[in-house]
Amino acid sequence: MQLAKRMSRLGTENAYEVAAQVAKLRLTGKDIITFGLGEPDFDTPENIKAACIKALNENQTHYAASAGLLSLRKAVAKEAGKLRGMDIDPDEVVVGPGVKPIIFGSIMALVDEGDEVIYPNPGYPTYESVSNFVGAKTISLPLWEKKGFAFEAETLKKMVTKKTKMIFINSPQNPTGGVLSKKDLEEIATLARKFNFWVVADEIYGRILYDDEFISIASLPGMKERTIIVDGFSKIYSMTGWRLGYGIMPGELAAQMVKLQINANSCTNTFVQIAGVEAISGDQSEPEKMVAEFRKRRDLMVKLLNEIKGFSCHIPKGAFYAFPNVTEACKALGLKSAIELQAYILDKADVAVVARTYFGPKNEGETDEYIRLSYATSQENIKEGLARIKKVIEK
Ligand code: PLP
Repeated sequence: MQLAKRMSRLGTENAYEVAAQVAKLRLTGKDIITFGLGEPDFDTPENIKAACIKALNENQTHYAASAGLLSLRKAVAKEAGKLRGMDIDPDEVVVGPGVKPIIFGSIMALVDEGDEVIYPNPGYPTYESVSNFVGAKTISLPLWEKKGFAFEAETLKKMVTKKTKMIFINSPQNPTGGVLSKKDLEEIATLARKFNFWVVADEIYGRILYDDEFISIASLPGMKERTIIVDGFSKIYSMTGWRLGYGIMPGELAAQMVKLQINANSCTNTFVQIAGVEAISGDQSEPEKMVAEFRKRRDLMVKLLNEIKGFSCHIPKGAFYAFPNVTEACKALGLKSAIELQAYILDKADVAVVARTYFGPKNEGETDEYIRLSYATSQENIKEGLARIKKVIEK
C-alpha cells in the first residue's frame, strides 16, 4: 500500500502490543497476570456514572462547543488553578477526548518541520512519535536512575539551541514514577524563558503523588505564557474508556487548538463532559481512596521486587509504575536485554511486564536494563505475579 511518507515516521505505543499478546494467550486458556497497561482497575466512581446517566436521560446527546462545555471549562479552570496555585481563565482551557489529542494538537499547532523537540527518555512514547510525524528533529533527554529518574541539568543546557521549539516534561512520570524537583523545573524554566520555547507539561499523574507537594512548571514566573498543561480524567478518576482530557494554555493558542478540534473531532462527547463536571467538582473521596490504595500497592510491589535476586527497585514517588533495574537478572539468565526478559517472564511465569525500550531508544552510555510494571492492579495480583516472577528468575 502506498501510504503518505509521514506514516513511516509515526511510532506506536507498545504497551498495547503487550495487551494484545495477553488477550491472545488468555484465549488459549492461560491464566496471565498483567502488569502491562497503565490503567486503574477501579470502577469509575458512582457519582460520575450517575451524572452521565442523568445527562443521557435529559437527552444531552447533541454536539457541544468545540472548545468544550463552558461548565466544564469553568470547573477545570477553578480546580486545576487551585491545585497549581494559579489563576486560570475558562478561555485558556480546551477540552478534548483524552489527553492524547491535546498532545497531538500541541505539536500540530506549534512544531514545524526541522524544529527541535526535546523529549524525556525513557518516557511516554507519543511525544517522540508525533514530533517525528510532523518532521521535527527529536532529541532525547536522558533520565537517570541515579538521579531518581530526573535529567542532568548540564546535559539539557547543551541540548537547547535557537531551533528548540518545544520540550516535553511529565512529572510524576510514566514509566519511571520519577518526579521533577522544583530545582529541576526552575532549570527548564530559565532555559525556556531565555530561548523562548514551549513547555508541554504532561501532568496527568499530578494528583497521584505520594510524598512531595505537586508543583506545575506553569506556576513559575514567566512560564504560564509558554506552557501547555495537559491533564485529564483517565487516571485519577479511573475513566480511561470515557475519553476525557484537557489542555490549559494561552487563550490565543487555545483558539488555534479549537480549530484543530473542529477539523478532527468537532467536539468531545457531551454527556461525558457533563460527567466530567461532576468528577472534578464533586466529592473527591473516591480518588483520594484510590491514591491511598496505590501507595499500599507501591510499597508492596517495591518490597517484593527488591526480594528478587538480580532486581533492584527505587521507590517511585508518583504515578503507578515500578521501574526496576534488572541488569543482573538478565546476566544471570544469559538474556541480552530487558526485551528478552519480558518474553521470558511472559513465557515461563505467565506474567506480562514491559521492557524499557518500549519507552524510547536507549540513550548513549545507558548500559543498564529495566522493565516497567504497572501496580494499578490488586494486591493479590501483585503478590501472585511477583511470586511467579521470583520463581522463574531464581530457578
Ligand atoms: N500521558 C501520559 C504520561 C500517560 O501515561 C497517558 C496514558 O497512559 C496519557 C498521557 C494518555 O491519557 P488519556 O487516556 O487521557 O489520553
